[in-house]
Amino acid sequence: VCNSIAYNNRPARESLRKQLGRKLSAAIAERDSDACVYCGATEASSGAHLHLDHLTPRSAGGSNEPTNLVTACRSCNSARQDMPLAAWARKAHATLGLEFTAREIRAHARRITVAA
Ligand SMILES: [Zn+2]
Repeated sequence: VCNSIAYNNRPARESLRKQLGRKLSAAIAERDSDACVYCGATEASSGAHLHLDHLTPRSAGGSNEPTNLVTACRSCNSARQDMPLAAWARKAHATLGLEFTAREIRAHARRITVAA
């Protein structure tokens, strides 16, 4: 589920970033305003690199399309693990007081603009 946007020494994460390429990685970062789509944390506010989170987990057949990838902070990413998005939204609300819904996050993820 978790793939670092920035420097990271795990080969699997490195390969996703490479697979996406600079243009798509930049488009995701811009769409998400370089902040966690769940809680709004930035690299500056969280003190850690942001990650790419699969809305539909890889383990559930989720793709590496930009519409299935969102920026997430380390704590949201590790709290979610491989949870389905709707279940994560309920957990995030119950345990962290976050107010997003799966529908909102998916709608947001579809609003991506990739430069030609
Ligand atoms: Zn977060």
